Amino acid sequence: MKKHNFYAGPSILSEYTIKNTADAVLNFAGTGLSLMEISHRSKEFTAVIEEAKALVKELLEIPAGYDVLFLGGGASMQFCMVPYNLLNKKAAYLETGTWASNAIKEAKLFGEVDVVASSKEANFSYIPKGYTVPDDADYFHFTSNNTIYGTEMRFDPDVKVPLVADMSSDIFSRPIDVSKYDVIYAGAQKNLAPAGVTIVIVKEDALGHVDRAIPTMLDYRTHVKKGSMFNTPPCLPIYAALQTLKYYKDAGGIKEMEKRDLEKAAILYDAIDTSKLFVGTAAPEDRSIMNVCFVMKEEYKDLEGEFIEFATSQGMVGIKGHRSVGGFRASIYNAMPKSSVEALIATMKEFEKKH
Ligand SMILES: *Cc1c(COP(=O)(O)O)cnc(C)c1O
Repeated sequence: MKKHNFYAGPSILSEYTIKNTADAVLNFAGTGLSLMEISHRSKEFTAVIEEAKALVKELLEIPAGYDVLFLGGGASMQFCMVPYNLLNKKAAYLETGTWASNAIKEAKLFGEVDVVASSKEANFSYIPKGYTVPDDADYFHFTSNNTIYGTEMRFDPDVKVPLVADMSSDIFSRPIDVSKYDVIYAGAQKNLAPAGVTIVIVKEDALGHVDRAIPTMLDYRTHVKKGSMFNTPPCLPIYAALQTLKYYKDAGGIKEMEKRDLEKAAILYDAIDTSKLFVGTAAPEDRSIMNVCFVMKEEYKDLEGEFIEFATSQGMVGIKGHRSVGGFRASIYNAMPKSSVEALIATMKEFEKKH
């Protein structure tokens, strides 16, 4: 039976990405060697990282003065690298979920942190609005998509200070105005590649303004200067990322991805909103087009286990919600075909008929 992969991360990748990466694991670029055993300084691999960098710049229309880095350590490493490199006195953070909370905790090790607003009291079911970002903050940090709670900020906020964003789970799902940002970072395992690489888009002028000493590996300047080759980069995930980037470009670029993502999300939210059994957990105006979170209505709560079982029998994988929200979460990243979303909807409707 066909499996429909709704895992939140690591998550679905395009067949193009998986097939080409598998081929390169066996024989990379006609070298007769595996991608896993070739020097990262070989001309074949250098070409990969250069092309990946160029494609990120092209797809996101990154202006001059920015560099694209491929780092290890996951998005969680950026929670400390950002303040290490950018926080002199004070930074502003918006608390919209667990990942944002983790970022705030790390920033507090480096200076004053102004948490401008939080939706923690409502289990992060909405994005706070009407907050004020102080003009004297070094930067304003937000999480564009809250993977666990299914809320998303699908815009680049207008504030007087530079933006820093964790875009781990929605990068490449909409065009962004990169010029508003000092740093954008994203772990690859949601919308790009297997786990192991994190993309960091950094404005070169934003670096070198803090007084503290920074360990070499945690200093963005090290990686800017060495083109992400200061030490051995995660070669295989970078190769896979390049395949996904090519696939995005061939499919029509980021605007086309956004169009498809909006369509997929719309039909799934519509199925939830018109359902007798299911109800969405995120505030409708803040709903994510990447992670769709829903539960059984109160009077049908005891059917949740049965639905998971039924959905599994129909080939649905990874739809159990995060333990902090419960219920269900369908992650419908760029690589998810509309047909899989339709299959999930059909499964929901069939289950509903039985109850
Ligand atoms: C998954 C995720 C992270 C954590 O990424 P790691 O690579 O595991 O450190 C951080 N932020 C967001 C928004 C995520 O979805």
